[in-house]
Amino acid sequence: MEKIDIVVIGGGPAGLMAAGTAAAEGVTVMLLEKMEKVARKLRITGKGRCNITNARAIPEFLTKIYPSPNFFKPSLYSFSNQDIVTLLEKQGVKTYIDRGERIFPVSESAKEVAEGLNAFAKERGADILCHAEVVSIAHSADGFTISVKTPQESRTIAAKAVIVATGGLSYPLTGSTGAGYAFARELGVKVTPTHPSLVPLEMADKPGKLTNTTNLKNIEMVLWINQKKIDKEFGELEVLDGKLAGPITLRLSRAAVAAIDAGSSVRFTLDLKPALSPEQLDNRIARELANPAVKNLGGLLRTMLPSNLIDAFAELLPSPLSKPTADVSPKDKKAIVNRLREYPIDIEGYGGFSEAIVTAGGVDLKEIGSKTMESRVVGSLYFAGEVLNLDADTGGYNLQIAFSTGFVAGKSAAQKVKEANRADG
Ligand SMILES: Cc1cc2nc3c(=O)[nH]c(=O)nc-3n(C[C@H](O)[C@H](O)[C@H](O)COP(=O)(O)OP(=O)(O)OC[C@H]3O[C@@H](n4cnc5c(N)ncnc54)[C@H](O)[C@@H]3O)c2cc1C
Repeated sequence: MEKIDIVVIGGGPAGLMAAGTAAAEGVTVMLLEKMEKVARKLRITGKGRCNITNARAIPEFLTKIYPSPNFFKPSLYSFSNQDIVTLLEKQGVKTYIDRGERIFPVSESAKEVAEGLNAFAKERGADILCHAEVVSIAHSADGFTISVKTPQESRTIAAKAVIVATGGLSYPLTGSTGAGYAFARELGVKVTPTHPSLVPLEMADKPGKLTNTTNLKNIEMVLWINQKKIDKEFGELEVLDGKLAGPITLRLSRAAVAAIDAGSSVRFTLDLKPALSPEQLDNRIARELANPAVKNLGGLLRTMLPSNLIDAFAELLPSPLSKPTADVSPKDKKAIVNRLREYPIDIEGYGGFSEAIVTAGGVDLKEIGSKTMESRVVGSLYFAGEVLNLDADTGGYNLQIAFSTGFVAGKSAAQKVKEANRADG
């Protein structure tokens, strides 16, 4: 049987970082990736641009991490947002800071980031095997036996330490199908329930429901849970396949999904004109009504809203779009202002893992050392990246979880193996 110091399972950002970091310590490392190439998911991040990390200072960075920023803190200090930028720049990937302190490659190419990380792992000496799916991990006093299926054969590999970096359940076509949770459970490591996060939200079938491809820029979206105002975001809203999507929905989705799961009522209200004061909005409506080119209520709305929102908007008004301008009453005006300020959208569900950016839940953090990523139950078994019960807001934070925990797992696994090798003489 082939003998390796450390086997890393999964060639996403966490696995590549772990493999390169461990190999740099001078131990033998084999990374097993079941897909035809490494980092399939990384290649589609940030709509192909890859939001690598976020430049915010560490204390503020940590406020974007769930459910336990404290667990993540030692990893982030060990390998920070600045450290991943430095590492990638050494691999020839130049970066820049965009809006919201988000860091992207200058090339705007997620593929370049994936290849930079792959080269990092290989150059440090990790042996990377694709088309190699791990089917089971057995543990005994002698270490680990890993069963691997390749297109040609089934083989077993003996390892002194294992790093599980198999990702979560989101976008399963990229290879992340939750295998790591099964490995964890089989080895006696607890896994908390998983659910989709950063995910599109399903609108209830009610008057005013937004239709497909409605794209609203520069709006404010307020989240209400059980009629209580919880949070708000400003930016761009998209509707895709009958679901609310786009950056502001994703940012508010974590709280919305938790509320839906708890059986609470979830509603968004949109301020479609957040830049206008009440007085400016009234003046704008009066000006448009006085314009001879505006013949009726529909004409008024067309001057103020994107055309694909008008039919839905009209469903929430007391008068029809054909009502002549001269007949528009104070009640009509009040209704228009109210709807422009608080356009209601009730939410009744959320998308599945195939649409979710990340998985919330996973390997229970109580079972893992936060300074090593080592299981407290099974020595020399490590977890890194999304397989852990760690996730974050959009903005580059999720990839940093993969980089930092991958680094810590790789470093501590290598140190432990080196100590054992020294003890063995
Ligand atoms: C559309 C989309 C866009 C995103 N954009 C961003 C962004 O811009 N910025 C950001 O910070 N985050 C983004 N994310 C989230 C980010 O991609 C993930 O958090 C990150 O990829 C997790 O890294 P990971 O290495 O833990 O897991 P993954 O990237 O999921 O990698 C796990 C790897 O393990 C392999 N594997 C699984 N099971 C086995 C097995 N049994 N044997 C062998 N190999 C196995 C898989 O094939 C996969 O390659 C995005 C996610 C999606 C879906």
